[in-house]
Amino acid sequence: FATVNVLGIDFSKVTADELLTELKQASLAHQDRFIVTANPEIVLAAKNDPAYKKALKTADHITADGIGIIKGAKILGDPLPERVTGYDTMLSLLEFANETKKRVFFLGAKPEVLTKVLAKVKQDYPDLVIAGSCDGYFKDETKVAQALKEARPELVFVALGFPKQEFFIVNNRTCADALWMGVGGSFDVLSG
Ligand code: UDP
Repeated sequence: FATVNVLGIDFSKVTADELLTELKQASLAHQDRFIVTANPEIVLAAKNDPAYKKALKTADHITADGIGIIKGAKILGDPLPERVTGYDTMLSLLEFANETKKRVFFLGAKPEVLTKVLAKVKQDYPDLVIAGSCDGYFKDETKVAQALKEARPELVFVALGFPKQEFFIVNNRTCADALWMGVGGSFDVLSG
């Protein structure tokens, strides 16, 4: 996808549908992808932290998750087609995983939130496979990496908040050929 640089971040000029089509094709071909749905807080954090900016640069797609970014691109004369949010992208990917019986790993949030998320997923997306899960307050990242390898997930949702989730993905992406996505507080929203 073509990109437009807003405050140092290269945003993909994609609609939610275009992004999903690309991700589904990649997933069906067993390729890995790293998706960032960047809100203004993420853009600012990257501006102030070169290591975070570098981590974000390794993403395959950075979408605009905030109206401010859409407005910024418009002012630059190079508009982005629409807002593509983390929560909606996660729901669309859960739907896809359900239709195609894909293996999904859920990483992050408080233990009680994660428990609720898994129950809701079982209820609403009964055909996807919960390949594994781990709450977001682990001590030993290498153990989580091992669990990820053993689970052989095809999608990994990482709900550690930024910048933790993006750093985690960059460090552990080789554990599985999967769609990797940082979803911030989306588990809290999904758990109700
Ligand atoms: N979180 C986590 N481990 C951490 C810090 C945060 O699992 O060490 C989870 C937190 O429980 C919440 C999510 O990350 O579910 C998002 O946290 P926050 O609201 O701070 O981040 P944001 O939504 O602003 O990215």
